[in-house]
Amino acid sequence: MQQVAIFGGTFDPIHWGHLLIAKTALHQVPLEQIIWVPSLNPPHKQAALFEHRVAMMQLAIRDHPAFTVSLIEVKRSGISYAINTLIDLSALHPNTHWYWIIGLDAFQTLPRWYRGHELAQMCDWLVAPRLPGGETIAQSELICKQVEQKFREQSFTINWQLLHIPLVGVSSSLIRKLSHECQSIRDFVPEPVKHYIATHQLYSDNSE
Ligand code: ATP
Repeated sequence: MQQVAIFGGTFDPIHWGHLLIAKTALHQVPLEQIIWVPSLNPPHKQAALFEHRVAMMQLAIRDHPAFTVSLIEVKRSGISYAINTLIDLSALHPNTHWYWIIGLDAFQTLPRWYRGHELAQMCDWLVAPRLPGGETIAQSELICKQVEQKFREQSFTINWQLLHIPLVGVSSSLIRKLSHECQSIRDFVPEPVKHYIATHQLYSDNSE
């Protein structure tokens, strides 16, 4: 059976934090493949054009043979729900043990996701520590246990493990903010992504 992980997100834009998380997951589990899935219409978010986000992802992962970008969300109209992504990808990749890569901030909200309880049981969760106050790994573990407990109270089980990475402060919103203020983003995104953002004037007042 293949071991494959889905890494879903808005990726607006992709940054070094995402890449560090994916590379860590690849070796920690270990995984044969990571399928990056940019959401077309993310719930609760407005994002840059899908085509721009995908182009930046393709530039960022082009040297990693185990990474692919899936356009599966294009085939579906309406809001991008994670459970549909997993169902559609399972049909394309039979005989696969699935993992889902997620930041701790998003993992905490999983009990409230659309059909979140079902989804929780359909894959194993690889959680990247991420807390606004930069709390410790022990605190991240405690939060994951609280999420697990919430599911257990409703008779659902969830398998999760923390990814062994340091807390990384970078976020897409920080990059959008810095770009908007014409400040440097070179430490936060791969060079070709930085170049793409500049060429297409993304996240500035003249954005496309
Ligand atoms: P934004 O700042 O716009 O909310 P983001 O940086 O969180 O964006 P997303 O594309 O929404 O980027 O993230 C995809 C997934 O990666 C989410 O599960 C998110 O929690 C996780 N993630 C992103 N950046 C980090 C980080 N620095 N540390 C841990 N997890 C992260």
